[in-house]
Amino acid sequence: MTAVTAGSAGPVRRFDTTASLLASVWLVILVVPVATVLTGDDPWWQKVAGTVPFIAFGAVYAVAFGVLAHTPARFSTRGRYLFWLALLAALTLVAAVTTGIGSAYLVPFLVAYLAFPLPPARSIAPVAAITVASSWAVFIAGEPYWPGFLGATLVSPVLVYLIAMASHRAEREQQLAHDLDQTRQREAMAVDVHDLLGHSLTVVTLKAELAARLVDTDPAAAKAELAQIAGLSRTALAEVRATVTRIRQPDLAGELAGARRALETAGIAASVPEASPAGAGPNDRLFSWVVREAVTNVVRHSGATGCTVELTGHSVRVHDDGHGFDGVAGNGLQGLRTRVTDAGGTLTVTSDATGTTVAVTMTGEPS
Ligand code: ADP
Ligand code: CA
Repeated sequence: MTAVTAGSAGPVRRFDTTASLLASVWLVILVVPVATVLTGDDPWWQKVAGTVPFIAFGAVYAVAFGVLAHTPARFSTRGRYLFWLALLAALTLVAAVTTGIGSAYLVPFLVAYLAFPLPPARSIAPVAAITVASSWAVFIAGEPYWPGFLGATLVSPVLVYLIAMASHRAEREQQLAHDLDQTRQREAMAVDVHDLLGHSLTVVTLKAELAARLVDTDPAAAKAELAQIAGLSRTALAEVRATVTRIRQPDLAGELAGARRALETAGIAASVPEASPAGAGPNDRLFSWVVREAVTNVVRHSGATGCTVELTGHSVRVHDDGHGFDGVAGNGLQGLRTRVTDAGGTLTVTSDATGTTVAVTMTGEPS
């Protein structure tokens, strides 16, 4: 595979196969007027003159939807749109001259070319004009079966317009949902970064001021403060990195990657699996939370040199070799315990001077 670089030459000029196919499947309807021309008893040259405009129309139509975004290249977006519209309109007029009322079959396609790319508010006027004009033309053509052709000039345009309107609405809703989702993500990220950095930087600032005051009178105390500042900034950096990793990949695998990054940034040897060996499962959200809380504690409080995360489909265990604590849970571990219990699992914290282990097992499942 060769890489295609857009460079200064503008966007890659790709043929939009999906748009073209979606639009051109309907061209099969043109078999009807073409068959009518070919099976009639006109001379051969008239059959050619009657068939060619339809084939040309079909070809232009299929190409237009595929290249509208970039061809002809020198034109503006509006110019490109009008270029293809003019071609289609011209071919429709040619078909009207050579085949008469049969050209009514082209009207729904003209309408589709207006109604799908343009917003409904802008396409309504030209669509209405074409519908009225072509229906009028069918009426005055003086053909015996003229009411049947109103299907093509009146019914189809209305249907096409309604479908286009629905599709525009669906697109807009999708866009809105997407925007909302992005806003939420941005807000969550802002809160995360604020919580993480706000606290750490405040403490770092205070300690830096303190160290500056102490540096002459009590150099040893100033040194201790500076060491703490280094530790705090490293922890903050670890947490920011973990947060960014999580934002990029907001699932259990992302959480594990974030945990690994945080531990490594904090200088703690990490043994963390890439993903759950059981694959994606119903406990992923809960286990993400466990890994996040427990590993954050290891980074912040443990003084460990190594940390291991072990994971199965129904259990997770975070072990560190730090100095341990009395095992009394604060807000973080207490909140975690509540979540685990609510989900039907058990959380155990074991801690002594050789390290701490936080283990969660989902009970009622095979162990
Ligand atoms: P928070 O992190 O909000 O203080 P936690 O419930 O997560 O609350 O933790 C309570 C306390 O337990 C922490 O402040 C810390 O002193 C201690 N602690 C938690 N986890 C560890 C650990 N892995 N190693 C050492 N101490 C820990
Ligand atoms: Ca905590």
